[in-house]
Amino acid sequence: MGRIIVIANQKGGVGKTTTAVNLAACMAAAGKRTLLVDLDPQGNATSGYGVDKKALERTVYDALVDDVPLRDVMLPTLMDGLRLAPSNKELVGAEVELVNATEREYRLRNKLAAVRDDFEYIFIDCPPSLGFLTLNGLVAAAGVLVTLQCEYYALEGLSELLQTIVLVRDNLNASLRLEGVLLTMNQHTNLSKQVIEDVRGYLGAKVFETVIPRNVTLGEAPSFGQPVIVYDLKSAGAQAYLALAREVISRG
Ligand code: ADP
Ligand code: MG
Repeated sequence: MGRIIVIANQKGGVGKTTTAVNLAACMAAAGKRTLLVDLDPQGNATSGYGVDKKALERTVYDALVDDVPLRDVMLPTLMDGLRLAPSNKELVGAEVELVNATEREYRLRNKLAAVRDDFEYIFIDCPPSLGFLTLNGLVAAAGVLVTLQCEYYALEGLSELLQTIVLVRDNLNASLRLEGVLLTMNQHTNLSKQVIEDVRGYLGAKVFETVIPRNVTLGEAPSFGQPVIVYDLKSAGAQAYLALAREVISRG
């Protein structure tokens, strides 16, 4: 059964989507059958694979709200072995439309149950909030990967996120655990170094060894609709996400 990892942080711009897109690609490149679920109405993971958000016939919204099987929503990608469940701004409506629905936090979990056997890894990219969509991601997953930017306010909001994880574990999904904390956008400045030290001091072994550098290639690749290992395999960003994939695999 596929290992479901949700990538979450209620802050925006901390490298969630970049990590979802590129970690999924590296897993597929390592021969793992992988699914990437875009759970953000901004659809950045979707466009990151060169998919035209506006031309989508079916999206994750249809799976969550209209009970369309997730299999019918999934698209192939340029990576062999990687499929994408795309989203666009239609997904904003899901919360309101499901407001009176029973077990609304379990919608994604139930949808994934039907396809879980087809994949070894399933990654879920969350929007920058702790609302209904992220809650669905947390309830569906076995592990949470939290991205933190190597900047002064890195730890701000983290305790709220960790508290939410505990609440979800206690009430909705007993098997949820913190998969790991990933430091992103390391600028190799004294400040970055200090932040990395502080975060490792605070969270210890939960922090991935791999630190993602700030690397322009990672910012460019999405505009070509490619993960960074396709766009520029030799770049520092590509090498870092390959190392992260190895680390996630070895952590089991
Ligand atoms: P989030 O999904 O948490 O909002 P993104 O992954 O979209 O964050 O990243 C925010 C912006 O920073 C995007 O423009 C992205 O291309 C860029 N970015 C992310 N990680 C890196 C990195 N390691 N180096 C350079 N740019 C990055
Ligand atoms: Mg994002």
